[in-house]
Amino acid sequence: MKRFHARRTRQLTLAPSETLTTILDTLPDAVFLLDKNERITYVNAQARTFAGGTSATIAGKRFWQCVPQLVAPSLYQAVRNVEQAQTPIEIQYASSVTHSWFHVQVSPTAAGLVLRFREEKAHPQVSPELYAMIDTIPQLLWIGQPDGQISYCNQRWRDYTGLSMQQIQENEWLQYIHPDDQQRTLHRRQEALQAGLPYEIAIRLRHGATGEYRWFLSQAIPYKDARGKIIAYIGAYTDIDEQKRARQQLATSERNFRVLAETVPQLVWTTLPDGRLDYCNRRYCDCTQAPFEQLQGYGWRAFLHPDDRERIISRRQQTLDSGEPFESEHRLKDGQTGTYRWFLVRAIPIRDETDHVVKWFGTSTDIHDKKQAENELRALIEAIPQFVWTMYPNGACEYCNKTWCDYANMSLEQLQGDGWVNMLHPDEREHVLATWHTAYQTNMPYAIEHRIRNGKTGEYRWFLARSMPLRDSCGVIRRWIGTCTDIDVRKRAEQQLAASERNFRVLAETVPQLVWTMWPDGRLDYTNQRYRDVTQANLHLEGDDLWREFVHPDDIEHTLALRHQLLRTGEIYENEYRLKDARTGEYRWYLTRALPIRDEAGHVVKWFGTSTDIHDQKRIEEALRQSQERANALMNSTIIGIIISEGERIVDANDTFLRMTGYTREDLCNGDMYWRRMTPPEYQERTQQAHQELAARQYWTPYEKEYTCKDGSRLPVLIAGIRLQHHPQQIIAFVLDNSARQELEQRKDAFISMASHELKTPLTALKMQAQLVRRRLQRQEHTEAAALLSHVEGPIKQLERLINELLDVSKMQAGRLEYRREQVELEALLREVVETMQHITPTHTLVLHSSAPCVLLGDKDRLGQVFINLISNAIKYSPGVRTVEIDLSATHNTVSIRVQDHGLGIPQEQRDKIFDRFYRVTSANSTAIPGLGMGLYIVAEIIKYHGGTITVESEVGQGSTFQVTLPCSDTPLTSRKMKL
Ligand code: ADP
Repeated sequence: MKRFHARRTRQLTLAPSETLTTILDTLPDAVFLLDKNERITYVNAQARTFAGGTSATIAGKRFWQCVPQLVAPSLYQAVRNVEQAQTPIEIQYASSVTHSWFHVQVSPTAAGLVLRFREEKAHPQVSPELYAMIDTIPQLLWIGQPDGQISYCNQRWRDYTGLSMQQIQENEWLQYIHPDDQQRTLHRRQEALQAGLPYEIAIRLRHGATGEYRWFLSQAIPYKDARGKIIAYIGAYTDIDEQKRARQQLATSERNFRVLAETVPQLVWTTLPDGRLDYCNRRYCDCTQAPFEQLQGYGWRAFLHPDDRERIISRRQQTLDSGEPFESEHRLKDGQTGTYRWFLVRAIPIRDETDHVVKWFGTSTDIHDKKQAENELRALIEAIPQFVWTMYPNGACEYCNKTWCDYANMSLEQLQGDGWVNMLHPDEREHVLATWHTAYQTNMPYAIEHRIRNGKTGEYRWFLARSMPLRDSCGVIRRWIGTCTDIDVRKRAEQQLAASERNFRVLAETVPQLVWTMWPDGRLDYTNQRYRDVTQANLHLEGDDLWREFVHPDDIEHTLALRHQLLRTGEIYENEYRLKDARTGEYRWYLTRALPIRDEAGHVVKWFGTSTDIHDQKRIEEALRQSQERANALMNSTIIGIIISEGERIVDANDTFLRMTGYTREDLCNGDMYWRRMTPPEYQERTQQAHQELAARQYWTPYEKEYTCKDGSRLPVLIAGIRLQHHPQQIIAFVLDNSARQELEQRKDAFISMASHELKTPLTALKMQAQLVRRRLQRQEHTEAAALLSHVEGPIKQLERLINELLDVSKMQAGRLEYRREQVELEALLREVVETMQHITPTHTLVLHSSAPCVLLGDKDRLGQVFINLISNAIKYSPGVRTVEIDLSATHNTVSIRVQDHGLGIPQEQRDKIFDRFYRVTSANSTAIPGLGMGLYIVAEIIKYHGGTITVESEVGQGSTFQVTLPCSDTPLTSRKMKL
């Protein structure tokens, strides 16, 4: 506060003249004249504007009421001071209402006071906007008078303390200073104000609302006008509470750090941002046996192992430059022993708020023993046959063992980083990398199979790569460690297996069997389509119970038992059972076979089975068995002798044949039986014929012959033979003992012969007697009696013919029939016979066609007998038909006689037999016609004797034609007697 010059003031306090008031009105200042009671006596124009009235309305009013916006404690104080001291004072203050700054001169006058207000524009120029801005500044700001009296403080000040501007102006804020700081603060402030200097002091100020003290940095500077005069002090309180606390904490933590650093078992150190050591713990000194002074700065480097030094210094420099954490393993000299020990060294940068590295904090951990063990382990890793490798967490390869390098035919350096990727098979490279990426993003171990190229041969082999993250004690992943195991053989085997599995499926679907595979516990694993078609179900999916439903109830028990046994023993399984075809509901036989498939250890891993439909085969087998049974029964028959011959030798014979012929099985086995030798000479020819027939037709018609038995006796047999289809050189023959029949036949022949002879004599006598009696009666002219007797002669003739025929037959049979040799005129003979026959036949007309008279040498009567027999048969067997035709034709050396009727005809199958002795056709029509079956036998015998043949053509209901062919006259007749 400065005092004005008294004289000048006094001039102004004179009563204003009109000129003076005009002058005063022109002033930019507001001038108020007050009386002793501080009532307004005069206001100039500017002052009127302030007061908001005219001179008349304002005059006489109390100053403080009239212009409340100008009221301020500092003004009030100044007015008091001037009233008391009667010396002018100048003050500057800001109106708390308008926020305008006022420079005020307060001067005493004789009547009271004069107050001149100048609204400060030039100095300090504070606009309302600026005030508003100042209010938002986070600091507490104040403006005070040169003596420190606060005239203005910003909103924050007021908010923090909860005081009003006025209370602050009245110095109430002083009580908000922490009691411990008050003395110090006031003292420091006083000093500065007196010296007109800026000041700065940290103080605690109480928060009005919470009562809590916070640290502030109180700063104030004097504000000077152009002349260097201090016109105000401007001050600010900055909240440094947190900083202050942090610093306190830092100090505490620094203390703690030191304690800790000395306690931990590591070497602990810090360096400056440039890497110079500025602290190390005791242990560091102990280890190196060097005082801190020797280690500090770059002194520590002297203790690095010479082999590590360069690497470490350069690596360290890199991290210092980049600010990345530093980590390395290197050796430090043990000061005591002079040997080097391995340390794991880590350092991290400490940064300030602006992110600048202010320090490096580092530790060195003794890992010598661990390293030693690791080296041993590494030697081991180098030696193992797998590839072993480690990767940094970023995916770059760090280490590969020797086996890996050797296989790749590359150095470790070549494989490091991503060099190894080149060794992957191009087909899997992307997949491997993707897997690896996922692994280190998710931190999950992985296993993958892929191929790796052999660097020497260029060939790819399959490997199983496994990798897992290696974490440090804090759980942070430091490395990935992995192995690659050669699985090429297994993989190829697997591929082959898969291919063979595929082939198996194709095969299984192709074969006509039901194919299935089964797990060792009996569950079906697979069934082919055929199986599914048959069952109309997926048994391998639907289970065992369903399978049972398809097995025939009669087979289920033994099938299950067998199955149970096979699962237990692992033996090969074979079984026949019936399985239901779901499509037809029919059971069919299947042959089921199953083989166990075993692993290397011999354990059954699967069953492979097929079921073959053997239903038809089974039926055939059954039929075969039955037929075999029948064949056996036949072979063992006691009636039929069976022989099998090969060439002339009998190779097999049943007991019946041996018994019949008197040979033994031993003879047979010795190969001593030959059918030709056993055949008597007279049967050789017939036997030969049979063998010719066999050659042509594969069999011979049964015929009668005799065998010479072992004892030389004869055995009549009926024999039939057939060539064996599967052994064409072998013949099977069935031999029936014919001796009983033969004997009977002989007895019958003997009887016929004897009977016919015995009958012939009395019949001849009877015939003679009848003729004699008839002639005598005729002579005596007993005509009627003679005619009656001639009726008897007819049947007698008939009987005679019958007996003659019987005699002929038995002679022929015995080969004793005698033939005459004479010239026979055949046509004449035939004509004679026809005429005679026509004569006694009223029912039929006999038509003879004869074109060729011919002569032959033979027995005329017998040939006549032939014609009679044929014509009488034609008449007899064509009842109701009128004609019978007889033809005679000749070639230059043969003559043929045909006898044709239109009668009953002869069934085909009996045609061959009608020439046999006593054979008669058995059809209903024929049997009604009387006869003994001897006529055609005799005919055939006579023709045969004459070197001719007889054939028959016939159709049932249409008639028959018998044709006899005879050689002509120049053909010599056989003179020998024929025997059948
Ligand atoms: P039979 O005394 O029975 O006539 P044959 O030896 O003359 O004896 O004839 C044998 C059989 O041949 C007869 O039983 C008869 O059935 C048949 N037969 C012979 N000739 C004829 C013919 N012309 N037509 C039909 N059947 C005939």
